[in-house]
Amino acid sequence: MSLSNKDRMKIPRQAMPEQDKFERRNNFSEVNLGFTEELAVLEAQRCLQCPKSTCTEGCPVGVKIKDFISLVSEKDFAGAVAKLKEDNLLPAICGRVCPQEEQCESKCVLGKKGESVAIGRLERFVADWERVNLGIRTPELKPKTGQKVAVVGSGPAGLSCAGDLIQMGHDVTVFEALHELGGVLVYGIPEFRLPKEIVRAEIESLSKLGVDFQKNSIIGLTDTVDELFANGYDAVFIAVGAGLPYFLNIPGENFNGVYSSNEFLTRVNLMKAYKFPEFDTPVFNCKDKNVAVFGGGNTAMDAVRTSKRLGAKNAYIIYRRSENELPARKEEFHHAKEEGIEFIFLSNPQEFIGDEKGWLKGVRVQKMELGEPDASGRRRPVPIANSEYVIDIDMAVVAIGNGSNPIIQNTTPDLDYNKWGNILVDKDTMKTSKEGVFAGGDIVTGGATVILAMGAGRTAANAINEYLKTKK
Ligand code: SF4
Repeated sequence: MSLSNKDRMKIPRQAMPEQDKFERRNNFSEVNLGFTEELAVLEAQRCLQCPKSTCTEGCPVGVKIKDFISLVSEKDFAGAVAKLKEDNLLPAICGRVCPQEEQCESKCVLGKKGESVAIGRLERFVADWERVNLGIRTPELKPKTGQKVAVVGSGPAGLSCAGDLIQMGHDVTVFEALHELGGVLVYGIPEFRLPKEIVRAEIESLSKLGVDFQKNSIIGLTDTVDELFANGYDAVFIAVGAGLPYFLNIPGENFNGVYSSNEFLTRVNLMKAYKFPEFDTPVFNCKDKNVAVFGGGNTAMDAVRTSKRLGAKNAYIIYRRSENELPARKEEFHHAKEEGIEFIFLSNPQEFIGDEKGWLKGVRVQKMELGEPDASGRRRPVPIANSEYVIDIDMAVVAIGNGSNPIIQNTTPDLDYNKWGNILVDKDTMKTSKEGVFAGGDIVTGGATVILAMGAGRTAANAINEYLKTKK
């Protein structure tokens, strides 16, 4: 039965089923449980099938959103996932971690007066439905070109570029520095937000297409970019992400118990430190201890929620601006609050305090107030005189962002870089200053979102394809 637009607009946005907020504090299982078929169809029926679908304009990889949603509303889930994968080979990942509220959903006409269609939840639903009911299917490949591309890094930019290039008929090898594939998707994002099994399944689909994955290969050390060309590669795509953590640069940062979010999350998520001694990568035992995470982004939320699951008695976010300026996704903030995380806003760390054995025991913070907007458009935090006080903590995690790892820069000096070590590219093609070398993702933009990195990978794949056609 066909619904009128009036009927469609009467259907409320369907809520995401979630794991109980008290139970989930004690486990690493996924918080969001995903739509049932009934919820997915109901949500899909809300879509007005706008002639000019602005939602697609908000998608960095150009997913044909209204077409796949229409198929969901007709219960043709296999057709829906096939349509979605014409533009995105990693939908189960994107459906979980992309900030749709800032991208496709922010452009949905329904959002102007009410609530947008839950595009991300539908994306996740159809991807999960395929994996459970059909196994992940792979698309047709173009005939082989005989040309070889090296992709450096197996995070979202590298995977998206590799997926497009292999379909275009090129041979693709992805080089990954770590022993697990997925880059930030596996070392940075916890199991309770993005299960490793989901990442592995989507990478497996690229392997089935013929993408060759080489783990434990640090380009710049095992081989340089120039050596990749000498080894027969016709083009190189650099997508190594932003893996060098920033620190606060305050006294006491070397005390035992102070971590970067990179180290803390990598040890816990990727190396299973929470299962020590079964896995031989110990992490600070924060059971019944006080933990403070400094920062307000999604990584800070991931770190503090992880510490709660490890048994922290009090787990704080300490952030120098207010709740309004918090850069984390609203959903992550909401989940963190539900799980008992305490937020200390408008407070800036001044010094870590340790005991005589070098172990962290507190942090001195200064209260802040908001002044005029700064270059980012957010109101600048201004210190309040004589407002310092000490918070007792046993562990600290610094989650204030990452810069570019210098390995590529040190070994490939003939690329152009900015002062922060990001590779400079032509934004329309991701082409660098060096012949045959393209770059995209966080190594170009600094820390950004998964889907923006995937969009860069797709742009680069198209440009590499054109470059290879003309290469002698
Ligand atoms: S803008 Fe919203 S309502 Fe319109 S087609 Fe896209 S998802 Fe559907």
